[in-house]
Amino acid sequence: MTQPSRELRLQVDGMTCASCTAAVERTLRAQPGVSSATVQLLDGTARVRTEERSADEKSGATLADAVTAAGYPARVLSEDEVPPPPDVDREASDAGRRARLAWVLSTPWVIGMVGMPFGVHLAPPAWVQAVVAGAILVGPGRTFFAQAWRAARGGRTHMDTLVALGAGVSYLYSLAAWRGLLGRESPIFFESAAFLIAFIALGKWLETRARARTQGALVALLERIPRTAVRLVGSLRDGEEETVEVDDLATGDRVVVLPGEAFPADGVVRLGGCATDESMLTGESVPVRKEKWDDVYGGTVVVSGGRTVVEVTAHGNATALAGIVRQVREAQSHAAPIQRVADQLSAIFVPTVIALATLTFGAWWWALDASLVKSLTHACAVIVIACPCALGLATPTAIMVGSTLGLERGILVKNGGALEALARAKVLYFDKTGTVTEGSFDVDEVVTADGVDSEEVLRVAAALERGSRHPVAEALVARAERDGIDVQPAADSSEHPGLGVTGVVERLAAVVGRESFLREQGVDFGSRPHLESDASTVHVARDGQWLGAVLLSDQVRAGAVATIRALTELGIKPRLLTGDRKPVAERVAQQIGGIRVDAEVLPNEKRRVVAAARATGEIVGMVGDGINDGPALAEADVGIAIGSGTEVAKETGDLVLLRGSFGDVVRAVRLARATLRRVRQNLGWAFVYNVAGIPIAAGLLSPWGVSLRPEFAGLAMALSSVSVVTSSLLLRTRASSIFAPVVGDDEATA
Ligand code: ADP
Ligand code: MG
Repeated sequence: MTQPSRELRLQVDGMTCASCTAAVERTLRAQPGVSSATVQLLDGTARVRTEERSADEKSGATLADAVTAAGYPARVLSEDEVPPPPDVDREASDAGRRARLAWVLSTPWVIGMVGMPFGVHLAPPAWVQAVVAGAILVGPGRTFFAQAWRAARGGRTHMDTLVALGAGVSYLYSLAAWRGLLGRESPIFFESAAFLIAFIALGKWLETRARARTQGALVALLERIPRTAVRLVGSLRDGEEETVEVDDLATGDRVVVLPGEAFPADGVVRLGGCATDESMLTGESVPVRKEKWDDVYGGTVVVSGGRTVVEVTAHGNATALAGIVRQVREAQSHAAPIQRVADQLSAIFVPTVIALATLTFGAWWWALDASLVKSLTHACAVIVIACPCALGLATPTAIMVGSTLGLERGILVKNGGALEALARAKVLYFDKTGTVTEGSFDVDEVVTADGVDSEEVLRVAAALERGSRHPVAEALVARAERDGIDVQPAADSSEHPGLGVTGVVERLAAVVGRESFLREQGVDFGSRPHLESDASTVHVARDGQWLGAVLLSDQVRAGAVATIRALTELGIKPRLLTGDRKPVAERVAQQIGGIRVDAEVLPNEKRRVVAAARATGEIVGMVGDGINDGPALAEADVGIAIGSGTEVAKETGDLVLLRGSFGDVVRAVRLARATLRRVRQNLGWAFVYNVAGIPIAAGLLSPWGVSLRPEFAGLAMALSSVSVVTSSLLLRTRASSIFAPVVGDDEATA
C-alpha cells in the first residue's frame, strides 16, 4: 500500500541563485517525513511532498521554520493562494543603488586609467586605495559577504561565496602588502577588489531588471482585474451604487460594469447585456456577446453595450483568471527535465571551483615559482569566472517567456516539462470526435425496426442521453427537442464511456450506443436492415429488442488538412485514434490527408495504444477534447487538450489550446521548439562562459600573453547572466513567426 502523501507549498524569500535553491531543497529533504521537495527560484516557492498521514498545518510550519533557520525566511502557502511574485522591482532598485555607489566610489581608479594612454600614471596614494576599496567592500559589497557568511554558517557554499572570496582575498592581500608584511615592494591591487564588486553589482542590476521583465507579463494579466468595484445595494433595478474594494466583494453581490471597464470578478449577467473581449482568457479577440444568465469573467473587458449588472460567482483567487495564472506559475515551477541537469551541475559547482582555484594557486606558487601576486590573481580570477549564475537562469527564464507568450495567444502551458516534450515529440495521436471533427453532429437518418417509428427511437435515445456530455448525446437530445418530442428523463441511467448509456425508460430497460455494446447487453438485433454506411451510427434498444439506429455526421474542423500537412513537414507523424467504427475513421483520415488509423479503440485501450507507442522509445503526444480520452492524454508524454473557453483548462492536458483552433496544434509545436532551442542556446552559452573561462583565468594562456584579471573575470561573469536572460526575452521577437498562420489554414488568425 502506498503511504498517503500530501503536497504543500512554501513561500521562500531571499533565494538569489541556484545554490540557494539547492540549499533549500537539501534542508527540506532532510526533514522527517518529506519524500520530495522542489524549489523554484524565479517565483520563490517550494513544493514539498510529505508522507505522514498526520501532515497538518503544524508539520507545514515546522518545515517553514527549518527553512527559515537555514537563512531563507519561509511560510506555508494556503491551498489556492497565488504566491506574491518576489519583489523583483525592489530587488532591481536595490541592485541599482549598489551598482551606482560602487562605481562612484571607484572613480579614483577610473581617473587613473584615463591618464594611462597619455603616459600619466595617476594611481591614487595607497592609503586612499585601501580606504576606498574597504568602503566598497562594506558598502555595496556587504550583501555578497552577508550571503556567503550565512551559507558558510550552515556549512554550505553559495554563488556569492565566490564573489566574497575573490574580493576578500584581493583586499586582504593588498592590505598586507601595503603594510609591508609581505616583504618590501610587494605590489598591491586594491582595484581588483573594488572593480570586482562594481562589475558584479552592475551585472546583478542588469539581470534583475531583465528578470523583472520576464515576470511582468504574467503579473500584468492579474492586474487587469480592477481594484475597485461598483456594488449595488438594494434591488436589482433601482438599488443604490457604492464603490468598494474588490477584496470586499462576496459571492452573490451585484456589481455594475460599464462599457470600457473590466469585470471585477467572475459572475453571471443579471441585467443588461454587452459584448466582451475575452482574449486574455481564450486568445480569441472576436468580442463575445453576453445576455442575461451568461457567464462573464473577471478581468475581461466590456467593449460595447450598456450598463450591465453582474452577480458575483467567484472573486479574488477563485476567478478563472487567477486559476489560469496560478496554473501557468505552477507549470513554470515544474522544472523541465533539462533544467534538472543544470541544477545538479550548479550545486556541485561552487565547491569544485574553490578546489580548482586552490589548485591554480598551488600550481603557480610552488610548481611554477611565480610571485604571490601572480598566483593569487589567477586563483581569484578562477573563482570569479566560474560563478554558475547563467547556468541557473538558462532554462527557467526561457520557459517563463515561452509559456507566457503562449498564454497571450490562447496556448495554456500547465506543465513546464510539456514544452520540452512537445518540442521533441515524434508521434501525435489525434482523437477523432470533437478533436479532428467539430463534435457537433447532425442527425442524417433514423433507421427503424419493423413497427417502430423514428420518433420512438429518438425519444428513447434522448431520454437516456440527457445526462451525457458526449457530442453524440448532445446531437440526439437537440434533435428530439427540435422535433418537439416529449422526452421524460430516464431512471437509473449510467454512461459507459466510449460505449453508450443504459437506463430505464418508460419502466423498461433501455440502451443506446455502439453495436458491440448493445450485443454485449444481449440485445436481439432480429430483423435489422443491412446498414452499410461510413456515417457514425448509434443503436437504440428497449427491453432487449433493437428499436433502430441513428446515423450522424460531423464536420472535419477548419484547418485540419493544413494542420496535418504542416505537422508532417515538421517531422511529426500524425495518427488518428478513435472509438468510432473503422469505415468512419478511414473516411475522416482520408479527408484530412490520409493518416494512419487506430479505430474502434475503447477509452482505456486508447491509453494502452499511447503506452505501446511510448514503449518503442518515441516521444508521444496526444491531442484530445478531454471527453473519453482523459487517460490517453495523461499517459502521453505531452497531452494537448483542445477546446474552448475556461472549462477545459481545469481538466486534463499538459497543454490546453483555449481557442479551440486546430491550427494552434502547429503553433504550439513551433512555440515548444523555439523555447527548447532557446534553452539549449542558453545552456551552451552559460557552459562556454564557465568552462572556457576557467583555463584562461587559471593562466593557461599566459605564456601567449592572454590572461584575465579578477575584475574582468567579474565582468565576463556578470555579462553571461545578462546575456542569458536577454536571450530568453528575445524569444518574444520570434512571436510573429511562431504564431503565423498555418499555410492553407482558412481560419488563420495571427
Ligand atoms: P472518439 O474516440 O472518436 O472521440 P468516443 O470514444 O468518444 O469517440 O466514442 C466512440 C463511439 O462510442 C461513438 O462513435 C459512439 O458510437 C459510442 N458512444 C460513446 N458515448 C456514447 C453515448 N453517450 N451515446 C451513444 N453512443 C456513444
Ligand atoms: Mg472524443
